[in-house]
Amino acid sequence: MNLHFTPEEQAFRHEVKQFIAASLPADIQHKVNNGLILERDDYVRWQQALHAHGWGGSSWAKEFGGTGWSAVQKYIFEEECAAACAPRIVPFGVKMVAPVIMAFGSSAQQQRFLPGILSGEEWWCQGYSEPGSGSDLASVKTSARREGDHYLVNGQKTWTTQAQYADWIFCLVRTDHEVKPQRGISFLLIDMKSPGITVRPIITMDGAHEVNEVWFDNVKVPVENLVGEENAGWTYAKFLLGHERTNIAGIGIAKRELARLKRIASQEKKNGKPLIQDPYFSLRIAQIQIDLGALEITNLRVLSAEEQRRTPGPEASILKIKGTEIQQAIIELMTQAVGTYALPLRREAMAAGYDGEHAGPAYASSLAANYLNMRKLSIYGGSNEIQKNIIAQMILGL
Ligand SMILES: Cc1cc2nc3c(=O)[nH]c(=O)nc-3n(C[C@H](O)[C@H](O)[C@H](O)COP(=O)(O)OP(=O)(O)OC[C@H]3O[C@@H](n4cnc5c(N)ncnc54)[C@H](O)[C@@H]3O)c2cc1C
Repeated sequence: MNLHFTPEEQAFRHEVKQFIAASLPADIQHKVNNGLILERDDYVRWQQALHAHGWGGSSWAKEFGGTGWSAVQKYIFEEECAAACAPRIVPFGVKMVAPVIMAFGSSAQQQRFLPGILSGEEWWCQGYSEPGSGSDLASVKTSARREGDHYLVNGQKTWTTQAQYADWIFCLVRTDHEVKPQRGISFLLIDMKSPGITVRPIITMDGAHEVNEVWFDNVKVPVENLVGEENAGWTYAKFLLGHERTNIAGIGIAKRELARLKRIASQEKKNGKPLIQDPYFSLRIAQIQIDLGALEITNLRVLSAEEQRRTPGPEASILKIKGTEIQQAIIELMTQAVGTYALPLRREAMAAGYDGEHAGPAYASSLAANYLNMRKLSIYGGSNEIQKNIIAQMILGL
């Protein structure tokens, strides 16, 4: 196992840094650096910049127009993007449905859907969860009944991130009610413009419209939008979740946010001195930095093993738990650093270009919403309790 980057990998890191410096729009960078609100257009512009450079599919094989990068190159790329305050790559198209279409889709589906995902022209959302089917995903009830050359879809999905922007949704639907739950699920690609689809916003506790309910009322979906075989959708669903968990530790994001925490703690004062010099507060920052360093080494060990094996293993669950705990600890300390100024939740003060008053320093205005929003990290992508179950069963053999 080699945890050092090779000269080629270091040269690659340099190339990535140079590209980002030249291509990341300054207004988007400012928003990410200050925890401000990102719009659909911000994500699309960044994906287009990557695509124009041939880097739109950082995790894709070359034959599909991707970069063909190794796991280490992907890691370096994501780390540098986070450090430079690039927006995250919206995962639903590039990182979720695309690998499924590449592995199990027909060549017609590959030709129809992959180019739009790569260029950022078509926005996807994920229709997995339903009321009562989150952790217990195999119990999905949204049904798809075959009628000649189409399916008739009825039911409800929930927590669907950015469905309000989406052109397409990939859905787990029940096509057989008589068999074991896992054996009666299919994977459908559904056009969000189809008659019978209703998107209803869910406003989360940070005041954001990030998630939605998506309702299906007799929605006609052509059979050619079935991925792979009917009733084999559970296999594809699990394959997708494996891809969702790569780079899940969020090391680059945590490093960037730790730097933001240190900036805030340097400006805030306690007893006339910068807060960062307070022994108790600096100890807590140091503890996070140590945990992050340990997580980074663990992540590199997992990557090193992945390079040999080529598939993500159950170790990803350790990365998910620790990575999300660290990100939540960082935002918690930021809010404590500014004290009562972190209490007001005013989304208008989080818009780029806001020139009204702030309750305290401008950097405090996004913290209440950022803190509340970060609670999601330990819930989505498989909750941290579910990740502990995976560790217990697959790593500890309990
Ligand atoms: C901000 C946000 C965005 C999301 N975006 C999407 C999206 O785009 N598409 C999508 O399909 N879904 C999305 N989700 C849904 C997400 O995947 C689910 O919330 C998650 O899988 C948990 O399911 P649940 O909410 O139904 O909770 P439940 O499964 O009901 O769990 C409730 C609690 O019980 C615990 N629990 C459940 N089962 C066990 C067990 N066996 N052992 C121990 N503890 C257990 C859980 O950890 C949790 O604490 C999103 C969620 C959030 C919060």
